[in-house]
Amino acid sequence: MTDQNTKSQDDLLFYTHDLSQQDIFNDMDLTEILPLLNKCPLKLIKQNDMIIHAGESRHYLYLILSGCFRVHLPSDPVNPVLVLGPGQSIGEISIIDHQPASGNVIADVDSRVLIIEETLLWTLVKQSHALAYNMLVVIANRLRNGNMVIDKIKQRMNEYEYNSTVDSLTGLYNRRWLDSMLERVMHRCATNQQALSVLMIDIDFFKQFNDKHGHIAGDQALRMVSRTILHNLRPEDMVSRYGGEELFALLPGLDINEAATIAERLRKAINDAEILLDNETVLPSLTVSIGMAEMQGNDTAEQLIHAADKAMYRAKRTGKNIIKS
Ligand code: GH3
Ligand code: MG
Ligand code: MG
Repeated sequence: MTDQNTKSQDDLLFYTHDLSQQDIFNDMDLTEILPLLNKCPLKLIKQNDMIIHAGESRHYLYLILSGCFRVHLPSDPVNPVLVLGPGQSIGEISIIDHQPASGNVIADVDSRVLIIEETLLWTLVKQSHALAYNMLVVIANRLRNGNMVIDKIKQRMNEYEYNSTVDSLTGLYNRRWLDSMLERVMHRCATNQQALSVLMIDIDFFKQFNDKHGHIAGDQALRMVSRTILHNLRPEDMVSRYGGEELFALLPGLDINEAATIAERLRKAINDAEILLDNETVLPSLTVSIGMAEMQGNDTAEQLIHAADKAMYRAKRTGKNIIKS
């Protein structure tokens, strides 16, 4: 940082013009406060210098005369939450609430700032209602920006949460979701004295399908099967991708007989659905073997999955494209 306490004539000219552009001096005649401002140090902040460190207590207001600064939350040094340019200021919140800075402020390019020390700022505020009003406006804008940042962070968290529970190929819930939700769904059904049935659905001869038509076609087939399952279930049913070509459906409120009707509907719909590839090639439909189980008294999630899995293997042994419980 280069200290430039003493200002040349040229500096002064520029500087008076730059000052009149500052948000906190909006609509003000600066002649009266200029002598006080002239005592404030003018500093050149080099590109990438950090003018404020998060956690640090600062008692200065920095008016940006030229250049640009990025404000980063300590957790994210890549995406700035705010970019400040000429006319804007840095540090006003800390001056008011005396709390340490919440972000790192870094010069994006070589920048010039005028540094107003806290006591001088309060002297100026006491002298000028216009300045006090402008400070309120600046702070209101900061609060509004803070709310926008919170909103963005919430959106990002929702995206992360979505991505961490959804399988990207099929759009179904993933195994992680199942592991954390099955027990909860079981508990909810038990509490509401509702039945709960589950289906383990495994695509038949899928290795053969991949070998014959290629992996891309296999992926598309998995998408089609998943879509067909979703179209044939109720909104309250939930489907997850248990493993490679194994899908697991939760049917709250249905006993094993009701689940059998649904499972048969799924089996038939998949059996009838041709596989449409992107280039409009149509491949023959696939079939699935389905194992069913109904939650019993004090079943654990593991036991319920195991029961459906065992039933699915029975269906495989019986010749595939069939449902077993
Ligand atoms: P079965 O009728 O006994 O179920 O035989 P199968 O061939 O379906 O079962 P197997 O376990 O032998 O093979 C499963 C195949 O599923 C092998 C694997 O390449 C394929 N697979 C698993 N996940 C994916 C995927 O995400 N995309 C594609 N294209 N294939 C997958
Ligand atoms: Mg399998
Ligand atoms: Mg299979």
